[in-house]
Amino acid sequence: MDGKTIGILGGGQLGRMIVEAAHRLNIKTIILDAPNSPAKQINALDEHVDGSFSDAKSIMELARKCDILTVEIEHVDANALQEAKNKYGVEIYPLPETIKMIQDKYLQKEHLIEHGIEVTESIDVKENNVETLTEIGNKFQYPFMLKSRTLAYDGRGNYVVKSKDNLSEALEFLKDRPLYAEKWCKFTMELAVMVVRSIEGEVFAYPTVETVHKNNICHVVYAPARVNDTVAVKASILAKNAVKSFPGCGIFGVEMFLLSNGELLINEIAPRPHNSGHYTIDACVTSQFEAHVRAVVGLPMPKDFTKFSTTNTNAIMLNVLGDDTANKELEICRRALETPNASVYLYGKGTRPQRKMGHINIVSSSMTDCENRLAHILGDEEVVVK
Ligand code: ATP
Ligand code: MG
Ligand code: MG
Repeated sequence: MDGKTIGILGGGQLGRMIVEAAHRLNIKTIILDAPNSPAKQINALDEHVDGSFSDAKSIMELARKCDILTVEIEHVDANALQEAKNKYGVEIYPLPETIKMIQDKYLQKEHLIEHGIEVTESIDVKENNVETLTEIGNKFQYPFMLKSRTLAYDGRGNYVVKSKDNLSEALEFLKDRPLYAEKWCKFTMELAVMVVRSIEGEVFAYPTVETVHKNNICHVVYAPARVNDTVAVKASILAKNAVKSFPGCGIFGVEMFLLSNGELLINEIAPRPHNSGHYTIDACVTSQFEAHVRAVVGLPMPKDFTKFSTTNTNAIMLNVLGDDTANKELEICRRALETPNASVYLYGKGTRPQRKMGHINIVSSSMTDCENRLAHILGDEEVVVK
């Protein structure tokens, strides 16, 4: 588009879908990750960097080749990014300081509280021992959630502490990790909003969606969320206010809990495209991936570009997870391929139980119709209809 090259830290499915969006606009992308990672598979170049996004040397090598750096994952070496910015003048979005703060979930919470954003109540775990957790248990009651401050994804840094008899087990499970504790949140629903911020600081929210998790992993997303307009608008405003607190530009995924009294609390924010935003590829005017590319390159972001494509668009996104029997998950994809208005996205990964292998977007003019198509696609799997 204007000759700029974007370097992407991380070559998983999110990187792969950023590549697709960038290439449609003639924007070149260079990936830093292991050889043959999903984003590299669809982007045959000699210049990719084989290495880790948490390795300073590899990050510097990527920075030398690019005009702009961005991330598909927040668990990167943020200090190295800052250094690359100082040394090579490369633009980096989200800002390294934002990544650094968000990647520590407790610092992220403190930041949001400072900006008047409602979040789940949390306490820092000063020392990883039973005494400290007993005090927290007395304050929060049971169950409470013990979380790793860093390197968390798909609930792998979380432990539900059911009673004081579980404390040692919880410490063993999250051994040697920096921890904090969260009050148990009796949510009635989980909501999410993708928000993209332009370089001028203007924020645009995608529709409010409902996310359903299974074993801590996103399973299905309903777009729009099956809530009344007041809740949907409140979620949208909360998400926009949260994202306004981060300087710089790019897309952010905002995860929220809806309580029975209508209150909304932010669970966490991802400074990148997000699983809950995959439906935008088929259901919105501009996908979350293209919106991110436009933001970081400084391309136009016109009014309403985050809206549903039509006034009666409804969508369901189903994650395709690796089955216990290798490749059995492809049966779901095969049924999706024979379903009208369903689109299959596969990520080019080797199958492994519970691994995110792909996703399916179903779009229709009614949610009931989307649900019927989902039921067909799931076959004998349990249909999650709340
Ligand atoms: P992600 O893959 O979204 O980054 P993560 O590993 O960072 O996940 P969280 O988002 O903190 O994990 O939690 C995963 C899920 O666990 C949430 O979506 C929610 O279903 C549940 N959960 C998290 N915190 C709480 C809480 N305080 N009370 C009740 N349930 C919670
Ligand atoms: Mg997370
Ligand atoms: Mg989460």
